Amino acid sequence: MREALIPHDESRRLRSLRETALLDSPLEERFERITRLAQRLLRTPIAAVSLVDAERQWFKSIQGFDVRETARAVSFCSHTILCDDVMIVRDAREDPRFHDNPLVTGGPHIVFYAGCPIRTPDGSRVGSMCVVDRRFRYLSRDDVGALRDIARLAEQELAQSFRRAADCEILDGVEALRRAARVDSMTGLWNREAIFEALEAEILRARRAGVGVGVIMADIDHFKRINDSLGHAAGDAILRQTAKRMVGAVREIDAVGRYGGEEFLIVLGPCESPAAAAAVAERVRRRIADDRFAAGPEGCEATVSLGVAFAMSAQGLRGEALVEAADCALYRAKRAGRNQVVCGGALTEAAEHPAA
Ligand code: GH3
Ligand code: MG
Ligand code: MG
Repeated sequence: MREALIPHDESRRLRSLRETALLDSPLEERFERITRLAQRLLRTPIAAVSLVDAERQWFKSIQGFDVRETARAVSFCSHTILCDDVMIVRDAREDPRFHDNPLVTGGPHIVFYAGCPIRTPDGSRVGSMCVVDRRFRYLSRDDVGALRDIARLAEQELAQSFRRAADCEILDGVEALRRAARVDSMTGLWNREAIFEALEAEILRARRAGVGVGVIMADIDHFKRINDSLGHAAGDAILRQTAKRMVGAVREIDAVGRYGGEEFLIVLGPCESPAAAAAVAERVRRRIADDRFAAGPEGCEATVSLGVAFAMSAQGLRGEALVEAADCALYRAKRAGRNQVVCGGALTEAAEHPAA
């Protein structure tokens, strides 16, 4: 195996990458749709937006392979960032740089790779838009053009983050570490602590704006049965895919968190009514129930039950009370037969402090 050289502008490149504040950030639909598009357009099982960090490549989004990062030393994308244009490896098994690479000799068994460098607005090549196949492939000129176009889309999203990060001066690795501690490493969703913080922030915002707050609690149906019949690894794969579907079904202003094992909490952005909150929950339910999951030898079906709670901005509204109400509604959804949405009664300040 031949490791890629370190780019001549490495320190500037890494600084630029930090300025995107994307490393260790949670799953985002705006990047998910780009990797899905690449996967479909180029007909490959795997597609990813890879960011090449000092010691690792970290996937902002990846389809078809369940990892968040690999060592930089084994990454194909660390070679791509040395190129000006698309780098193609038709058969990694016969390429002296890659033939004994663990990603070739072991999972995901890369045979074919094509990657296009992704630049930040200052021109630094911080990562790659890549597609991977487990068999020998030939890319037409149109295919290469498509990959280039998709890389430009990824660059646009990256530029967005670059601006946002510059606004709040998130510049150093400490900040990235802090962010990593707030993201659930298995699903890429906000973790329990972070989603609670999002809820408290949303309550404050809603109070100031005089609007409502909505939350959705979701729980996978009969998950124990799925684990028992297909194994824990298949269960994990379903959790990861469920996370992606949830992020894809909600609005960009909503926050999705992993609340516990197979329980999820969605904090809705500005929300005008219980019906609006329930509509988001129904979209999530359908997104999960409609398509089979890639887990186990033949794939499988899975559903979720969802409980919705809504409160008009009331002085003294506590996040816990809202979550409790959503949990009660979720319990009713389970009792009523699962794979459905139940909307709890709207909370008011009076209901929350009945003795007062
Ligand atoms: P219900 O429809 O009532 O929710 O049934 P259930 O089987 O989903 O209910 P329960 O909450 O009792 O079971 C949840 C299971 O989720 C139990 C636990 O082993 C499994 N689980 C929790 N976390 C993980 C995880 O990270 N990975 C996997 N594979 N399974 C997990
Ligand atoms: Mg549960
Ligand atoms: Mg469950």
